[in-house]
Amino acid sequence: MKYESIIGLEIHVQLKTKSKLFCSCSNAGEYEPPNTTVCPVCLAHPGTLPVTNKEALIFAIKASKALGCIITSQSKFDRKHYFYPDLPKAYQISQYDRPVGTNGLVRIEIDNPEAVRKTADVRINRLHLEEDAAKNIHENGATLVDFNRCGTPLSEIVTEPDLRTPEEAKIFLQELRTLMRTIGVSEADMEKGHMRCDANISIRPAGDNKLYPKTEVKNINSFRAVERALKYEIDRQTKLWEEGNPVNYLSTRGWNDDKQQTFEQRKKEEAHDYRYFPDPDLPPLNLAELERDVTLPELPPAKRLRFAQEYCFAPDAAKLLADDPDWADFAENVMSETYAWLKATPGYTAAAEHKQREECSTVGKLVSSWILNRLMRQMADAAIDIRILKITPENFAEFITLIHTSQINSSNAQKLLGFMLEAGEDPSHIMEEKGLGQVADAGFIENAVMRVVENNPKQVEQYRAGKVEVIKFLIGMVMKETEGKVDPKLATEKLKEKLG
Ligand SMILES: [Zn+2]
Repeated sequence: MKYESIIGLEIHVQLKTKSKLFCSCSNAGEYEPPNTTVCPVCLAHPGTLPVTNKEALIFAIKASKALGCIITSQSKFDRKHYFYPDLPKAYQISQYDRPVGTNGLVRIEIDNPEAVRKTADVRINRLHLEEDAAKNIHENGATLVDFNRCGTPLSEIVTEPDLRTPEEAKIFLQELRTLMRTIGVSEADMEKGHMRCDANISIRPAGDNKLYPKTEVKNINSFRAVERALKYEIDRQTKLWEEGNPVNYLSTRGWNDDKQQTFEQRKKEEAHDYRYFPDPDLPPLNLAELERDVTLPELPPAKRLRFAQEYCFAPDAAKLLADDPDWADFAENVMSETYAWLKATPGYTAAAEHKQREECSTVGKLVSSWILNRLMRQMADAAIDIRILKITPENFAEFITLIHTSQINSSNAQKLLGFMLEAGEDPSHIMEEKGLGQVADAGFIENAVMRVVENNPKQVEQYRAGKVEVIKFLIGMVMKETEGKVDPKLATEKLKEKLG
């Protein structure tokens, strides 16, 4: 019998507001010593009252809109009761029946030839705002509590069970991270706990429309772990089905990353166990009024499409560059500056105007591949982040122009890029200073060709006897002789002339 898996996700996204959700404490407590970004409100001292952070509301509205949700015009906060040492009030301020956003939709693309479906529409059930609890630290047999995190704003995003494979779940989370970063509400870094995921999964015989009791896998903290935990659960639950003993109760399981296994923690609570009721300390929220002032930047799906159309980037390059807001800005500026540089290069415009589309794809490929394959790699090796990058888009555009107009060859361009990373100066200046440019002087090339022909009589003989591929070796020798300063095309021409 064949089985299919039904997967839904609940994701907590930590919002990067300046202060906490209900007090004026700094929201950057994760970078401070334990229990230093706290006050009587977030420590739940008697007599204190919460005040809602407007920035958190705006961030939650933004996130809801980016997920295609409808904003609830009259929203409110509710108390969710439970006891835990990291929750000093013994209730969490959350949202029950009037979340900030409902009924959204996110489309994901599954770029895997073996995938059963290439796109999936994932409905978003809701996005609500709630406060985070403190953090328990288990040390030497004792448990310590750091209250810095207590009161940090979280948006909890709940999907419908529209995902079918662990891979789809991972891709959805990556898309969510890209969205949250693009709209600037969170770093959404799973490793740092800025995005935390619980995955609900059940199995059913293929073709069955019933939903069976689900298992919730909690606290998965990386994209890889999401995929692995879900694969593990699919295998475990499939086996139970095959034994005629499928899962028949709701349960919560943890993920053990060291053992690569899930383990049962408890049977799941239901909503009524939490005794939700509206928080009497907080006024209702008029979100319709706030929503009017919230605008969204261009979202990743639209940006990817525009990058492919406007700049002729290949689809995968367009996605890589569009998905990171910092790199997207850099690439856009480089593109417009590159055309400015090219148009200022004598003899360029007329040729390029003849075949616009072809030129667009040549320049697009040059820019995207030099950014993605060379610049990013050299930056990674030198541990340089884009936020401290010394190369301006203007300088990078000039650099691309030097390559495109054959003023420098590709191996010397790599060296030049290294110098630019260190010095941050303009490329033509460094090229001249370090002698990396191509020499167009005919005499210089001819002399080099002559020396190579004289010093390699065996290869010359082979070439003349009809073994034409030997020319590659001879060109290599010319490049070596000239320290890479001649245009290989020109060197080939001169060699062929000489060899007759
Ligand atoms: Zn506080």
